[in-house]
Amino acid sequence: MRALIVEKNEDGKTSAGVQEIDESRLPEGNVTVAVEYSTVNYKDGLCIGPGGGLVRVYPHVPGIDFAGTVETSDDARYKPGDKVVLTGWRVGEAHWGGYAEKARVNADWLVPLPEGLSTKQAMAVGTAGFTSMLAVMALEAHGLKPENGEVLVTGASGGVGSVATAILANLGYDVAAVTGRPEQSQYLANLGASKLVTRDELAETIKRPLEKETWAGCVDAVGGSMLARVLGQMKYGASVAAVGLAGGAQLPATVVPFLLRGVNLLGIDSVMQPYENRLVAWKRIASDLPMEKLEGMMVDATLADLPKLGADILKGQVRGRVVVDVN
Ligand code: NDP
Repeated sequence: MRALIVEKNEDGKTSAGVQEIDESRLPEGNVTVAVEYSTVNYKDGLCIGPGGGLVRVYPHVPGIDFAGTVETSDDARYKPGDKVVLTGWRVGEAHWGGYAEKARVNADWLVPLPEGLSTKQAMAVGTAGFTSMLAVMALEAHGLKPENGEVLVTGASGGVGSVATAILANLGYDVAAVTGRPEQSQYLANLGASKLVTRDELAETIKRPLEKETWAGCVDAVGGSMLARVLGQMKYGASVAAVGLAGGAQLPATVVPFLLRGVNLLGIDSVMQPYENRLVAWKRIASDLPMEKLEGMMVDATLADLPKLGADILKGQVRGRVVVDVN
């Protein structure tokens, strides 16, 4: 089988390349999947490259998500021929992942391919898009409705941002998309963004803990000083779903928006989501994300493209969602 293998060299640096390896090297697990598609998320960029502390054991096969067909199964829930999807559970970090023709995993980590999606579409959504749906669901659970006002999406041309923009627009929200790439304005308008906010407008460190009440909700893929600014611009009682740290892990904020405006900061984790929530989120994706919008985000790639794509995504240079045909 072919796989993207990341090795740690004698100088401590890592290198990644496609190799032919024996299937007997697959890790332990009770389901073997013939992988059809994987994708490139921000975390994959870390795992293809120096690891960011996520990968401890080398040689390693990255790929934090995949979709494919069950080949063998020792678990009653899955039988050969079943179409399945995997995201999370530290697959592609602590366990070999989806950048290979086959993957062996624990049945608990799988979900059946959602009705209405192909394996390719499921990976066009991938971990990034699945997490966007979780973020939208969290905002809804905290009272967000289209009539509340504009919803901000940060890192909008990236994977999380693109899918969040398309889902929110389809649900009838006015979406304000924050981007550092003004050349992507037509792309974002096509996804349904009704307004563009330049990254520069939110780049400065907060000077005042409260600014004009502007946003009814926010899906934040960026974190850092941008999230700190956004907290001070939220409407009374509104919520921010904190998904990512593309702009930094620090949060140089004050607690004033929480105390004086009842703003909520909602943490979103896709990795350890319970099975039942996963099913709900995938069902919502199949119904609320227009497939023609997903089509517009997709970039096709192969295993051999991954070392470059991994480096690109860490520099914020990948647009939308990359779909990797591993075969
Ligand atoms: P992408 O690289 O596809 O998207 C990130 C986007 O953020 C970029 O496209 C860019 O958008 C913007 N951006 C990049 N660097 C900066 C910067 N320095 N300052 C401001 N904006 C920046 O990554 P993903 O969409 O795959 O992931 C986004 C984040 O979400 C990552 O941090 C990832 O780890 C996290 N994540 C978290 C999950 C969870 O379970 N909580 C699951 C999935 C992802 P633009 O050019 O439009 O400005």
